[in-house]
Amino acid sequence: MVEMSVVVPCFDESEVIDAFHRTLVGALRPTGVAFEVCYVDDGSGDATGERLRRLAEQDPWVRYTSFSRNFGKESAMLAGLRMARGEVVVLMDADLQHPPELVPRMMELHRLGYDQVVARRDRTGEGPVRTALSRGYYRLVRRFMDVEVVDGSGDFRLLSRRAVDALLTLPESNRFSKGLFSWIGFDTVSFSYGNVRRAAGASKWGGRRLLNYGIDGLLSFNTRPLRLAIHTGLWLFLSALAYALWILTRVVLHGVDTPGYATLITAVVALAGVQLATLGVIGEYVGRIYHEAKRRPHYVVRETSDTTAARPPAPR
Ligand code: UDP
Ligand code: MG
Repeated sequence: MVEMSVVVPCFDESEVIDAFHRTLVGALRPTGVAFEVCYVDDGSGDATGERLRRLAEQDPWVRYTSFSRNFGKESAMLAGLRMARGEVVVLMDADLQHPPELVPRMMELHRLGYDQVVARRDRTGEGPVRTALSRGYYRLVRRFMDVEVVDGSGDFRLLSRRAVDALLTLPESNRFSKGLFSWIGFDTVSFSYGNVRRAAGASKWGGRRLLNYGIDGLLSFNTRPLRLAIHTGLWLFLSALAYALWILTRVVLHGVDTPGYATLITAVVALAGVQLATLGVIGEYVGRIYHEAKRRPHYVVRETSDTTAARPPAPR
């Protein structure tokens, strides 16, 4: 029986993957927990797949799935959760930013009865701009979303079997995990740890990717931005009405005939902006509906440890 599955999404992590594996095993062995490690190679272009295959050959409790291309971390985590057979599942990054030494502590908290144990990183050693942006973003998300999302609480967490099963019942193809974790509920506890720099390699989260991730977070959970668009439209309409009335009265009472060119242009441009933004919001939802309606699988598997074990070695 497997007590714990550790799920690790990896994308171009060949530089750290061996070190990660060693640290993880070093941290878990002494606890005596029967564990397995489920690696997901998210279509890496480097030797990550190769390394994983070797690890799986060495240790029977290492399993892996390789994607046919890069499908993104959310898909990789989903594949890992589907692979996992353990009574509890720990999700963590391959770059050692999620210290494996914390896993035993998570297990202890789980034994106290928590279904989700979250290790929250603080933001030591991070640039002030990024910190401020993240803070502002989370404030925004909390205002707009129905689910609770906490700054710094990422994907490093332990989930009980029933929490994992709940996550696996959510069918959406646009997966925003931070929201899904909170949506499934269950008793959750968190503790924080000092931020760690990535051991080697580079982060795949540039500015644009983060921005898109942010938009996903805002739009994935409800239709409140649409509501906001309606409110804005209503307010603009009312203020335009009031303005028109004011001008009319002025003309009637004083006979003043205002040139009004500047006002006109301003109003037209402002309204065009609001309309475009609103259309964008609507389009974003329509796009999501289109995306979900296709019902495509979340990822395509190139190979797994089970298929390679059964197959004769490749000719050289
Ligand atoms: N990752 C992935 N697919 C991707 C991007 C990232 O599986 O398309 C993995 C990556 O290998 C790492 C984890 O997700 O294990 C976190 O990625 P990264 O360290 O780049 O993000 P950051 O820590 O900077 O948020
Ligand atoms: Mg990282």
